[in-house]
Amino acid sequence: MEQTLVILKPSAVERCLVGEIITRIQNKGLIITGMKMMQLDEAILREHYAHLTDRPFFPSIVESMTATPVIVMCVEGVEAVAVVRAMTGVTNGRNAAPGTLRGDYCMSGQANIVHASDSIENARIELKRFFRPEEIFRYIPSTLKFIYSDDEVKA
Ligand code: ADP
Repeated sequence: MEQTLVILKPSAVERCLVGEIITRIQNKGLIITGMKMMQLDEAILREHYAHLTDRPFFPSIVESMTATPVIVMCVEGVEAVAVVRAMTGVTNGRNAAPGTLRGDYCMSGQANIVHASDSIENARIELKRFFRPEEIFRYIPSTLKFIYSDDEVKA
C-alpha cells in the first residue's frame, strides 16, 4: 500500500469543507493513518513549494496558506498517490472536472482547498516534512477485504 500527503488548506478550513473532503476520501476506501491540525509558516512553505518560490505569486501563496491552521493527513491505499491526485483534480478549480474535489468545491487557482502529493517519491519527502514517524499509525481496517481483493492488497 502507498501513503500520500493530503493538506486541507485554509480555503477548506475556512469554508467548513473539512468534513466533506474527509468523507469523500473515506468513502473511496482510502485509509487515514495520520491526521493533525497545524499552523504553517513561510519556512515550511518555502520547502514545500520550492518549485514556486521564485514566482511572483509566491507571497500570495504564503499568505493564503498561513491564513488559518491546516489539516494534514497521511492517506493510505493501493496506488494511493495517483488515486488521490485524480480525486483532487487539476490545479485551477475552475478547470477541474466535476466529480473531483477541486471541481466540485472551489473556483480558484490558488484557494483550491487541497494539496495532494504528485509522486511516490514526493509523498515520502512530504510526509516526513509534516509528520514525525510516531504520528503515522499502522493498522488494518477490518473492512479491508471488502475494499480490495486479496491479490490487490498483496501486490
Ligand atoms: P498542485 O497543487 O495542483 O500540485 P502546483 O504544485 O503547481 O499545483 O502549485 C501549488 C499551489 O500553488 C497550487 O495548488 C496553488 O494553491 C498555488 N498556485 C499554483 N499556481 C498558481 C498561480 N498561477 N497563481 C496563484 N497560485 C498558484
